[in-house]
Amino acid sequence: MTESILLALDKSQTLQLMSRAIRAVGYKVIVAHDSAGIKKLLQESHPSIVLLGEKLQEENGLEIIEELLIHYPTLPIIFLATENSPGLIQEVLRAGISAYLEPPLKTDEIVNAVESSLQRAKRMGDWLRREVNRSTASLEKRVSEMEVLLTIGRDITGTLDLDGVLNNVVAAAVKLTKSEEGSLLLLDEESNELFMRAGYNFEDEFAKSFRLPVSDSLAGQVIKTGEPINLNKDALLKIKTAYLVKSLIYVPIKLNEQTIGVLGVDNRQHHLPFSEHDTLLLSLLADYAGVAIENARLYQASEDERSKFEAVLSNMDDALIILDQQDRIELINEMMCNALGVKGEEVSNKIISDVISQRDILNILRQKEEISMQNFEVILDDDRVFNAQYTPIPGVGAAITMQDVSYHKELSRLKDDFVHTVSHDLRSPLTAVLGYAELIQRIGSLNEEQKEFVHRIQLSVQDITALINDLLDLGRIEAGFDTRRESIHLESILRYSISNLETTIQKKNQTMGLDIVPNLPPVRGNPVRIRQLFDNLIGNAVKYTPNNKKISIKLHNEDNQIIFKVSDQGTGIPLEDQPHIFEKFYRAANISKRVAGSGLGLAIVKTIVDSHQGRIWFESKENEGSIFFVLLPTEVH
Ligand code: ADP
Repeated sequence: MTESILLALDKSQTLQLMSRAIRAVGYKVIVAHDSAGIKKLLQESHPSIVLLGEKLQEENGLEIIEELLIHYPTLPIIFLATENSPGLIQEVLRAGISAYLEPPLKTDEIVNAVESSLQRAKRMGDWLRREVNRSTASLEKRVSEMEVLLTIGRDITGTLDLDGVLNNVVAAAVKLTKSEEGSLLLLDEESNELFMRAGYNFEDEFAKSFRLPVSDSLAGQVIKTGEPINLNKDALLKIKTAYLVKSLIYVPIKLNEQTIGVLGVDNRQHHLPFSEHDTLLLSLLADYAGVAIENARLYQASEDERSKFEAVLSNMDDALIILDQQDRIELINEMMCNALGVKGEEVSNKIISDVISQRDILNILRQKEEISMQNFEVILDDDRVFNAQYTPIPGVGAAITMQDVSYHKELSRLKDDFVHTVSHDLRSPLTAVLGYAELIQRIGSLNEEQKEFVHRIQLSVQDITALINDLLDLGRIEAGFDTRRESIHLESILRYSISNLETTIQKKNQTMGLDIVPNLPPVRGNPVRIRQLFDNLIGNAVKYTPNNKKISIKLHNEDNQIIFKVSDQGTGIPLEDQPHIFEKFYRAANISKRVAGSGLGLAIVKTIVDSHQGRIWFESKENEGSIFFVLLPTEVH
């Protein structure tokens, strides 16, 4: 293609002369008359040279040159001065033009200037191309080094196969440094020797038996100093007997600032020197090896911990299931498998409700979202009774633990039977005592002191009788004899219960807040027992709350349940007593012995709630007060 020359000159004889002279030697001429025209033609026609006048219309040629060279730094520009001026020559040459023409213009001078500028441009182009090729080759090399390093990096994070990673590290070291063989030596602290953990181009047998003392070896020197060695010697270097090399690099592999091994490459056959860049690459790979070794060590440590932990959990006496956040079984121990009659390997990693049908355990999971229910009873088909706890574990899921309490249950049943029998047998003699105490007063007159004693006998016998009645009630409900059920409206029973306590409340100058949602649905139950329930809970609130304080009662419904709530501002229950207050005869440590009570009330209440398929729980803080909640299912039609 013919090269074109862009003439940027005002219309004049000079322009015509130039055009002619240039065309005559075979170039194509294009013409621009202002700087915008020059830029346009530079983009559209790609001229090889721009020949520019000192003045173009009213524009200054020198300023145009400066601007053009910013965008096209290698563009050859010939400057055409209007008249001879040595000062101007210096200025335009400094701006970076390739040739300078001044009047009088001669055709051969014009042609010479054009041709020499073209030649210079060509030389410049060749040089640029060479430079570009050279930098591209070096960039390509860097890119491929980066790729190798990246692959190893990915290797380390993506696999736990330490052997594989370390072999890849050594192979990459050999590839990147274009060496003949490579090795990764680790320190055996006991013998103070280095052994070959991974090798490239070494025979298996040699690699396996390779041992190098730290003292008196080049690799040992790296271990001791923590500094790399890059040796290029004409003489063969003796690393170990029968292992002579001509050049080598050894770099330290460090773990927490401590050198634990050496990564090395060497040449035995050829004497190809290694560069500083090779040492850098090898150091990067050694860092990778360090990370991989550390990862493997950490993984092993956590695996060891895990298996220790598993062994402890498997062998503990409690039955245990650990669930993830989706209720999938993460771990189930032997004891739990035995209790539930399942095989660990068959249920592991499955959703618990898909593989375990035990009703009480499934109930625990159903109720887990609800308020603080930490202790549950699980009764197995073979009548064994377990005490179970559901414990959420943040970040993991939850654990269900169970202890076999069948033995204690049986013992407690025997005790209850005994108490029941004794209570029963005590009733008749007590009735007799009460009867005779009555009679004493009737058969003759008594003095005041005698009357007082008889009165005390009567009060004491009444107390014992009330206690015995409580015990017998409890026994009856627990044994399931209390089967009377009818549709009852809790509001009227509650109001009746409160009215019976009114005198005491007034005496203690307590205020009573009452909030009953109207038209509550009925529940199915035994009205006598439900009254006992209210009497006990409200009675306790009144009893354990000081004078002048407030008691609040709320009765409302939610879904298919009625919720009864009684809050007081009383003594509260100490934290350590809280797990026991539903036990028979249990009274908290902060209660004065002078406050009347047998510790049976809450045991009766709990039994009543259970026999009505309800739930009871409480919240309490010592010296601040307590809230008792009872939840009863509404009657189903
Ligand atoms: P008692 O006959 O002692 O009242 P209960 O079975 O009704 O027996 O209650 C057991 C124990 O629980 C009480 O002795 C007391 O320590 C504690 N308690 C129950 N209700 C309350 C309450 N409202 N405030 C403080 N403590 C309470």
